[in-house]
Amino acid sequence: MGPPGAGKGTHADHLAGHLGVPVISTGDIFRAQVADGTELGRTAQRFLDAGEYVPDEVTNAMVRERLAADDAHFGFLLDGYPRTLDQAAVLDEILAAQGRSLDAAVVLQVDPEELVQRLLRRAEIEHRSDDTEEVIRRRFEVYDAQTSPLVSLYGNRGIRHEIDASADIDTVRIHVRQVASLLQPAA
Ligand code: AMP
Repeated sequence: MGPPGAGKGTHADHLAGHLGVPVISTGDIFRAQVADGTELGRTAQRFLDAGEYVPDEVTNAMVRERLAADDAHFGFLLDGYPRTLDQAAVLDEILAAQGRSLDAAVVLQVDPEELVQRLLRRAEIEHRSDDTEEVIRRRFEVYDAQTSPLVSLYGNRGIRHEIDASADIDTVRIHVRQVASLLQPAA
């Protein structure tokens, strides 16, 4: 977890490789669906472009299907999901039905103004349609309103690991790996 631009994707890929589990990135799945012009992609696009969250029922159905796939059987790393309390509740229910639960929630923390600047630089390189300044600021508002409550939720559960993600990428990576060392991938 972490606000837009905190480095979730980068560190998720690295950590998942280290743990030998697939990354399930809802943002990447939505962007792939948009690129492929599927019905789901058409539904998702206007939310992505506006910096809003795709409705929970759409996102939850997509994750439910993805978590049922064989490669997620021995573990998985979620990137950018859950992002709302409703999503967190549905995720609990999906995992409980499979007899498992989350081991850890990794939260990347960075000062929001630093992130806005980081995202504007990324916009120049990647040309993402949701990286204009107005949309970036909206994405932060949505994160604060809808996703920050999950940080407390997982803190209360005792599975939250907060990492200062304003440091350079290698330092953050080391801290993320330290969390991984606490986890036992399922046999
Ligand atoms: P990300 O790449 O994770 O920053 O996601 C990019 C965009 O995809 C977000 O701004 C949302 O529009 C959408 N998205 C990704 N994950 C979710 C989610 N869990 N719930 C709702 N919308 C999502």
